[in-house]
Amino acid sequence: MKVLKFGGTSLKNADKFLHVSDIITNDIKKEQLAIVLSAPSKITNYLVKMTNHKINNDEISNNIQEIKYIFNNIVNDIYQKKPKFLYQPIIQLINDQLIQLKKIIYSVQILKTCPKNIYAFIVSRGEILSIAIMEAILTEKNYAVTIINPIKKLLSTGDKLDSIVDIEQSSINIESIKIPKTNIILMPGFIAGNKKKELVVLGRNGSDYSAAILAACLKARKLEIWTDVDGIYTCDPRIVLNACLIKKISYQESMELSYFGAKVLHPKTIFPIMKFNIPCIIKNTNNPKGEGTLISNTNNLIEKIDSIPASITGITHLNDVIMLNISSLEIKNIPKVTNRILSSIEKHKIWIMLLTQSSSESNLNFCILEKQLSKTIYILKNEFQLEIKNNLVSPIKIIKKLSIISIIGKKIKLQSNIFSKIFSVLNHHQVKILAIAQGSSDHTISIVINEKYTMHSIKAIHEKIFNDNQVMEIFLLGIGGVGKVLLSQLKKQINYLKRKKIQIKICGIANSKKLLLNLQGIDLNAWENNFYKSNLLFDFQEIKKILKNNYIQHPIIIDCTSSQIIADQYIEFLSSGFHVVTSNKKANTQSYEYYQTIRKTAFVFQKKFLYETNVGAGLPIIENLQKLISTGDKFLHFRGVLSGSLSFIFGELDNNTSFSNATIKAKKLGFTEPDPRDDLSGIDVARKLLILAREVGYKIELNDIKIESILPKYFDAISDINQFMVELKKLDNLFYKKFNQAKKFGKVLRYVGIIDLSGECQVRIEEIDENDPLYKIKNGENALAFYSQYYQPMPLVLRGYGAGNNVTAAGVFSDLLRTL
Ligand code: ADP
Ligand code: ASP
Ligand code: MG
Repeated sequence: MKVLKFGGTSLKNADKFLHVSDIITNDIKKEQLAIVLSAPSKITNYLVKMTNHKINNDEISNNIQEIKYIFNNIVNDIYQKKPKFLYQPIIQLINDQLIQLKKIIYSVQILKTCPKNIYAFIVSRGEILSIAIMEAILTEKNYAVTIINPIKKLLSTGDKLDSIVDIEQSSINIESIKIPKTNIILMPGFIAGNKKKELVVLGRNGSDYSAAILAACLKARKLEIWTDVDGIYTCDPRIVLNACLIKKISYQESMELSYFGAKVLHPKTIFPIMKFNIPCIIKNTNNPKGEGTLISNTNNLIEKIDSIPASITGITHLNDVIMLNISSLEIKNIPKVTNRILSSIEKHKIWIMLLTQSSSESNLNFCILEKQLSKTIYILKNEFQLEIKNNLVSPIKIIKKLSIISIIGKKIKLQSNIFSKIFSVLNHHQVKILAIAQGSSDHTISIVINEKYTMHSIKAIHEKIFNDNQVMEIFLLGIGGVGKVLLSQLKKQINYLKRKKIQIKICGIANSKKLLLNLQGIDLNAWENNFYKSNLLFDFQEIKKILKNNYIQHPIIIDCTSSQIIADQYIEFLSSGFHVVTSNKKANTQSYEYYQTIRKTAFVFQKKFLYETNVGAGLPIIENLQKLISTGDKFLHFRGVLSGSLSFIFGELDNNTSFSNATIKAKKLGFTEPDPRDDLSGIDVARKLLILAREVGYKIELNDIKIESILPKYFDAISDINQFMVELKKLDNLFYKKFNQAKKFGKVLRYVGIIDLSGECQVRIEEIDENDPLYKIKNGENALAFYSQYYQPMPLVLRGYGAGNNVTAAGVFSDLLRTL
């Protein structure tokens, strides 16, 4: 014998009903089956709404219409596919049930209250209709069916809306039905009957419990709970998309998980099956071939998947929680105050979800469900009547809209760093922990936080505990040469970095016109196509909203533009929680005030601001300079060839190439900007020099740098680039002269950036002899010579290609890794 339970999610529509009937009839050949069904999803919610006596007639009609619509659709669609299906009697049954329901609800309105037996009747209509429909489907397939009436057979005690079933008596009751071995047994879930044979219910989501009871009563070999997920996960997979499926779990732990909020299983389900040692499998109706989760008497907590620490099973949450605080300086004089609270409240079946007290007993916090607040306050006021009257107890403080997040595992407090992991991750996301407690069973740690932070916090804690990868969420601005190459470098390295436990997600790619967004990570094989199809516009305010509303661990903005508008937003990027990596020089060369504000903001918000490629592209200049200064070296002066294009042009002169031809060649080889005047003006070199000077501590502005432009002033007036190239020839003679003059003394010409001993900065053409480290710098190479207290008389020289998309993108990439 096997018991199968299908939840509301498995009975949403006609196709699902027929699919479930196929699962049943495919399985019937091997052994007898007993089937427990819930109401189709949403039905119970509509029914619950109608138990409120304050509901108005319109709302009643709407709810009834919705229920009718769902059931009629199911029945009509089944009839379309199965013409022999007993359509008429079922439609009649639906109508009768709804008419009866309406009458009862109107009487509730008149009564101005909904007694529990009426409540139980109303909310259980869905299960009754599910069974009638399934009986008709199976009959149409020529299977014989026996229906167990749970009102008569499942003897229950306790609250009529949250009953407990007496398994021993119920087994005897069920045994008394002589069920033919070949019949399929059907039973509506959620429902039982008390001693007076009155209909009661087992609590919301209680069909799981019904199925466990039936499995125990029928001494079933196995229980299967069919739902809409592949089994029990380390966290609700609808919240944490990368939650891991737990293949095997013990009764104890599955009980803890469900008790603390894993909706996939009702908390009462485990006890009956554990008592009779019946294994239970959670399976997905949409994926019947999946293995599911086996709940059994196993010590094997969790299959040892590399990324999952062996002793943490999962994370759950409960919403609609309220925390009550009772405190007083006198409270320690009240005998056994904690006991009195616990016993008075628990006597009334109020669930104290968590309790903490100060060691002096002068302060007590405990959590209950919001729906039990008024009852609890009433009980407490009664219990502490005397103390309240004599001002021994302060007024009870109430904090609403909270949630409890629980981390469940084996001997959890022995888990290394578990508390520090929770604290650090919540601190990182600025979530305040209002209370923390360790469950009596040693299997659970629960924390109380404000409900609005629940989703973020669950995701963050799950990530911290189950994923030891360091995640980076990247928003790339600018997809010109450097941006594009960076994307292809990232694509190439993603798997390598994954092996090193660094997970890179490109969440956004933007240029000045468009934005492509995917928080799960853009597919780098297809980004270009998807980018051009995207109709989102880049707007940082939207990205900010995304950051606020989603769990993002390590957001980084990479600026590969040369845009002033983007550079002006760095302070906002940093203060909104992004690290900033940039190859754009504009921010660092703005006013010194802005330069400083960026750094202060990065410091205050604990974000990295990295710009290694601002000087010398991929060469590790800024980082080394910072290290030098941090370790106590004193900067003295600097000389360097800071421009790849000018290194090329001046190097060509050494080969007797004319100045104009050298420039044409540099342009052809892609060493210059599209308009070579941008290089020849010297402004770009001045910008780099400014960044270096500020880096070593000089408070200077771009205007303070003396620039010797390579071009005479009149070149400014030439607007046409072709005309400019022609005019350039007129400079050839001048440069021949300068070159030959230098050559006479064994020197060459170089375009050099200088910071002298007094901090004065200049950019100029210099004659350089062979002892100078810049003498051999040509072909687009950069060289930077730092003279410092430690590095003299020979300077520290950094030399290499200082321009080009590949090296610049690689420099940005390495900055990216330095944000971790
Ligand atoms: P049914 O209608 O089949 O009873 P439920 O909605 O009651 O389905 O339960 C299934 C849902 O439980 C899943 O869709 C999932 O969102 C939720 N859930 C919560 N926690 C977990 C968990 N740890 N593992 C799997 N599912 C979970
Ligand atoms: N239909 C009931 C509910 O929604 C019982 C169940 O689905 O388990 O709570
Ligand atoms: Mg359920």
